Amino acid sequence: MAAETEDIIDVLNLCGGTWESPQTDRYDDVFNPSTGAVIARVPLSSADDVARTVSAAADALPGWSRTPVIERARVMFRYRELLEQNLERLSELVTREHGKSMAESRAEVRRGIEVVEFACGIPSLMMGQSVANIASDVDADVAKHPVGVCVGITPYNFPAMVPMWMFPIALVCGNSFILKPSEKVPLTAVRLAELLLEAGLPEGVFNLIHGGRECVDALLDDSRVAAVSFVGSTGVARSIYERGTRAGKRVQAAGGAKNHCVIMPDADPELAVSALAAASYGCGGQRCMATSVAVAVGRIADSFVDRLCSHAASLSVGPTDTGDAIDIGPLIRNEHVQRVSSYLDVAHEDGAEVVLDGRRNFEGNGFFLGPSVVDQVTPDMRMAREEIFGPVLSVMRADNLEAALAFGDLCEYGNGASIFTRDGFAARQFREHFNAGMIGINVGVPAPMAWFPFTGWNSSFFGDLHVQGLEGIQFYTRQKVTLTRWFRSSGDSAEDPIWRGQQS
Ligand code: NAD
Repeated sequence: MAAETEDIIDVLNLCGGTWESPQTDRYDDVFNPSTGAVIARVPLSSADDVARTVSAAADALPGWSRTPVIERARVMFRYRELLEQNLERLSELVTREHGKSMAESRAEVRRGIEVVEFACGIPSLMMGQSVANIASDVDADVAKHPVGVCVGITPYNFPAMVPMWMFPIALVCGNSFILKPSEKVPLTAVRLAELLLEAGLPEGVFNLIHGGRECVDALLDDSRVAAVSFVGSTGVARSIYERGTRAGKRVQAAGGAKNHCVIMPDADPELAVSALAAASYGCGGQRCMATSVAVAVGRIADSFVDRLCSHAASLSVGPTDTGDAIDIGPLIRNEHVQRVSSYLDVAHEDGAEVVLDGRRNFEGNGFFLGPSVVDQVTPDMRMAREEIFGPVLSVMRADNLEAALAFGDLCEYGNGASIFTRDGFAARQFREHFNAGMIGINVGVPAPMAWFPFTGWNSSFFGDLHVQGLEGIQFYTRQKVTLTRWFRSSGDSAEDPIWRGQQS
């Protein structure tokens, strides 16, 4: 829901079932990165707006948490149908405000729908455990209960999928939810919220608040918020984890990444190079699971770099909102293009070799940068240590698998890593010993699907329970153990009418 002024949309908050403008005169522009045009204005909500939104979520909580779990599941089944019907429209919104290609947007929305499908199974997922006669005439059971008001704070790079990692699971577990999407991509979140209302979710159970740091801080400081899910860059993830847990909340905070892909000498070169290019340059390199470092092992390094450069140079770069098939769309903002490009100078200064430079003049005002390859990167260089989050691929060279594994140990992050090989033993060594939480074997982007947790390690994650899968259910529930000693209502069974009824 949005109020339109000429062509520029003013984005609204959803508070207690009502779409409204927050009490702020501070707004940010939202761009179409393919054209550079401003398409909307997003409010930077104040602490007062946050307080009202938390009140709405807290008011809706008792009714929703007591709603039978099967009815909560039915809302999700209806939501799933609506998402399917709106898949194309949602994908267009993602492309319009983020800039990724329509194929990438459809895949993103599909991954989000899969989380909704997982959440539809909530009656089974909420099952507890019991032990009869754990002590004499005493039974024990453990049941899952909602945690309360939950908050999701999400990044710009997956406007549909990352919010859907969180709220479908939180809601079916009986919690109310407040989504604070990235201020760079608020439009998809608005549509996701509209469809939740259409699916019959009671007012106030899901709320949407737009804003930046002030809004996030107020959410973290509100004592009525029980749990916070965050996905974004590492510095912010760390500070949100610290502030939230200090305030007594449970927090899961996924951070940035620097993902490696190891190419063994026996790998199928065609398969490895095309998978690697897709993993590095897809979504303009703006994926937390994007490959950022290729590790060429042994004698193949020179031919691998040649092949990679000619493949990358053949990729098309351009606007994604025209209907034409494009390999690499724009980056999110012009400042981000400048930031990512600056790493090519850093690479040169640090002694690496820029063998393919993606900087060139593009038509129009979109935020474009072509694919780059930087060879001869070593572990001490910034290229090897820092998250760049754009279409720049570093190549490191290793004599053997052991040396390639050591590169992972030197890296602060630990999201994902892949290996391309036909050798089962090498693949097993890699799976066992690479220092990251998500591993791909002959798979470029090993992002787990809805039924599995998204298990980043090291500075890629703060907390203990990750998003998605059974860890998601655990995060959004707390357990209650009951011990019961069963008495008869009268001391004498022969006189007890209930007992006699049982006998006859
Ligand atoms: P970001 O950290 O700038 O912003 C994420 C969210 O935090 C946004 O909603 C933003 O409004 C808010 N925010 C920003 N600065 C803040 C501050 N100082 N205090 C409080 N809140 C603040 O991230 P981004 O640029 O939107 O997204 C890209 C980053 O997200 C990359 O680092 C990427 O690796 C990471 N990411 C990680 C995963 C994962 O699963 N590990 C998934 C997707 C993206």
